[in-house]
Amino acid sequence: MHNFQYHRASDVNDAASKLSACDDPKLLAGGMTLLPTLKNRLAAPSDLIDLGNIAALKGIAVEGKEVVVRAMTPHAVVAASADVLKALPALASLAGNIGDPAVRHRGTIGGSVANSDPAADYPAACLGLDAVIETNKRKIAADDFFLGLFETALQEGEIITAVRFKVPDNAAYMKFRHPASGYAVVGVMVAKYGSKVRVAVTGAGPHAFRVTEMEKALEASFTPAAIANIKVSPEQLMGDIHCSAVYRSHLISVYARRAVEQMTK
Ligand SMILES: Cc1cc2nc3c(=O)[nH]c(=O)nc-3n(C[C@H](O)[C@H](O)[C@H](O)COP(=O)(O)OP(=O)(O)OC[C@H]3O[C@@H](n4cnc5c(N)ncnc54)[C@H](O)[C@@H]3O)c2cc1C
Repeated sequence: MHNFQYHRASDVNDAASKLSACDDPKLLAGGMTLLPTLKNRLAAPSDLIDLGNIAALKGIAVEGKEVVVRAMTPHAVVAASADVLKALPALASLAGNIGDPAVRHRGTIGGSVANSDPAADYPAACLGLDAVIETNKRKIAADDFFLGLFETALQEGEIITAVRFKVPDNAAYMKFRHPASGYAVVGVMVAKYGSKVRVAVTGAGPHAFRVTEMEKALEASFTPAAIANIKVSPEQLMGDIHCSAVYRSHLISVYARRAVEQMTK
């Protein structure tokens, strides 16, 4: 690991001013991704600005038809939250199946969303549950947020403060879990809002994405059969040591169907 200066921010404004004052800084949330990256010398920031002491960045609130998860809320807290279990059980279940207990107690929603790992679970929740990502500067619709492999719409100096999920009538998240890490080989979130349906996939492409063809078919007929013959072309998917793009395409169809099956039981 290269040397760096460690700073503990007292509030979001303090974090923002430290970010703009430092040479090549990085925000530190749970450190679950950032610290291994530093240990492997894949990044060498001049300064780490720790958000861990900022109380305003922690916690969950239900505001009308929205569930607001503040950026420094660990996955385990989302999974166990009575409010989330009641309003959005699919989100609690997604959070409770991330990684292992250590990762769930350290890793945060803000760090996960900012990182935009192609196999992370929360990006599928953000897209499927029509979320808005709130930063210290603006609000960004999830549809405009995930831009590429580990690439988001966040600009320099921008800090995620919360993720605001719209509560659906019904939703389910199904994932083919990597047996070692827990990351999604493929994960699919299906959510129903009145006559509208959202289908979001993670693990399969360079970043999470929606499958509009499945959404339209499910809006016409909300049954597993309605999407039985819809395939995402492997040409737009990733193949790697875990499995081929063709297999990922197959998994998307299977897991989307399973999500709809769960919702129509
Ligand atoms: C062994 C292992 C297994 C895992 N399994 C899964 C899994 O099954 N599913 C899954 O989804 N994830 C998984 N993860 C990822 C994990 O859940 C964390 O979400 C992820 O590591 C990032 O969150 P963090 O809080 O640790 O962020 P950090 O590692 O601290 O930060 C990650 C990046 O986000 C930036 N950042 C952090 N917070 C903010 C913010 N508020 N605003 C702007 N930028 C910010 C940092 O500067 C850094 O670039 C796994 C990780 C490990 C190590």
